[in-house]
Amino acid sequence: MQTTILKGKTVSSKIKEGLIDRVKHLKSLDITPGLAAIIIGNNPASELYVSSKAKTFKKMNCFSEIFKLDKDIKQNEIIEFIKRLNKNDKFHGILLQLPLPVHIDENELLNTIDPIKDVDGFHPANLGLLMQGNPNFIPCTPLGCIKILDHYKIKTEKKHVVVVGRSNIVGKPIASLLSQNFNYGNATVTLCHSRTSNLSQFTKQADILIAAVGVPNLIKKNMVREGVVIIDVGINRIEDKDKERGYRIVGDVDFEGMLNHAEAITPVPGGVGVMTVTMLLSNTIDSAFNKIKKMEIK
Ligand code: NAD
Repeated sequence: MQTTILKGKTVSSKIKEGLIDRVKHLKSLDITPGLAAIIIGNNPASELYVSSKAKTFKKMNCFSEIFKLDKDIKQNEIIEFIKRLNKNDKFHGILLQLPLPVHIDENELLNTIDPIKDVDGFHPANLGLLMQGNPNFIPCTPLGCIKILDHYKIKTEKKHVVVVGRSNIVGKPIASLLSQNFNYGNATVTLCHSRTSNLSQFTKQADILIAAVGVPNLIKKNMVREGVVIIDVGINRIEDKDKERGYRIVGDVDFEGMLNHAEAITPVPGGVGVMTVTMLLSNTIDSAFNKIKKMEIK
């Protein structure tokens, strides 16, 4: 079986093409979609992610500003900071780069972001709307996975999707989306996690497997049936002395092992990661449009 490589870059370029006119329209009204990205502490991976997001915004004629806050900052100081960003009209989206230092209460901060600027879709109001089947901002990584499936015309209806990983930002929202009565839903979904006993028993039943775990090469060829479609969300650094930087990035799935076994698979890098950034851009542009609609209603 020839395995199709589901290229996030191809899908992302197509989506961005469609966003160009939307940005132009906003600019004609003197509006530049703007994102405030908050980083707390010195996490090199977070800095890399945020700077790549900023580059994408710039390339697409959108605006972003990175706010780097000290690792020892107090909870209430960050809350005040977010409240100021909520009121700042320059920003249509606010992003809090995760993970946060251990002394910070992540949920309290996410709950402080105004839901209308919550372009990551992590606020309980937005997660609640998603659960209701009436989503406002869909979290960027799950949305990116769905856009990849959509682009490659991989149907989810009547399929058995097995999601491995139950995080609030990937596993839970994608399991919810795919099980609902949406265009890209109507699947039967099994959600596996760290306490699932005999993981293979479930992964072997998958028509579509979505791995969002954070364990390099956890999912191997003998854990899935031939012809499975695999979306690998994992981004893991593993030591590689042959690389100048001393590591390379791999997913949660043994990519090489799946070639000629899976029907289709997303590579890491080059799969879901790039889509996450594009969906953040798309959500921020949507947020800028939502603001115009509100002005019209007034
Ligand atoms: P997380 O660390 O919050 O949660 C991991 C989940 O995996 C947990 O629900 C846990 O129950 C489950 N798990 C852990 N070990 C397991 C095992 N042995 N078997 C089955 N389940 C197990 O995860 P997250 O934030 O969703 O991130 C998961 C991975 O996805 C990480 O590698 C992360 O870097 C990556 N990620 C990528 C993107 C992207 O844009 N591609 C976005 C977010 C996260």
